[in-house]
Amino acid sequence: MTDVAHNLRQLLAELPQGVRLVAVSKSHPPEMIEEAYRTGWRVFGENKAQEMKAKHDVLPPDIQWHFIGHLQTNKIKYIVPYVALIHSIDSYKLLAEVDKQAARAGRVVDCLLQVHIASEETKSGFSPDECRQALATTPWRTLEHVRLRGLMGMATNTDDVEQIRREFRLLNKLFHELKATYFAADETFGELSMGMSDDYREAIGEGSTMVRVGSKIFGERTYNNNPVVTT
Ligand SMILES: *Cc1c(COP(=O)(O)O)cnc(C)c1O
Repeated sequence: MTDVAHNLRQLLAELPQGVRLVAVSKSHPPEMIEEAYRTGWRVFGENKAQEMKAKHDVLPPDIQWHFIGHLQTNKIKYIVPYVALIHSIDSYKLLAEVDKQAARAGRVVDCLLQVHIASEETKSGFSPDECRQALATTPWRTLEHVRLRGLMGMATNTDDVEQIRREFRLLNKLFHELKATYFAADETFGELSMGMSDDYREAIGEGSTMVRVGSKIFGERTYNNNPVVTT
């Protein structure tokens, strides 16, 4: 068994029912994704639109591609024809633009709203209040080619486990509040995407339904050699 297959198997054995895994393959070459694919895994996460498209184009069509990175409107076109879930909607403007391009592609694209829960300035997303505001004041219900499926968040990169738990708990609370306020009548708003290699156990403890794990499966990332040629 390869390392990737071994790591994947170990992780899956640890995940409780109701928690799904997105194997974050960003920065790793298609060959490593194929190793996971051969074990039967189909759900992969990428954070750059052109890198995701390049991999999509050379890998089997039954892979479900999740987009987890900051999305610029001029890059939506690289992912909208096939993306399974966009985790990182951080403005109404972006949601409306995905809707417009999804309409052209003849699709309905599932999306999560990314909420900033960490104490670091660098992590993007709505603040909890901006997220409430966006749902209260924008015409998101009129968008027919996107479907809001839940929330995504990243905890602070810290050894303080209590802080991490607190941040995930806050996101879970917001998730239930928004679900009760705006989605009480339907089951589509059901995903809470939280947890990465270093904090997925805490995230699961606080109600995560989807963990995004990269380095624990694929090993450390090296950013100085781009694995896919994007022209
Ligand atoms: C890179 C990344 C992950 C995975 O991080 P690991 O620490 O390698 O598990 C998860 N979520 C997002 C948004 C990421 O950018």
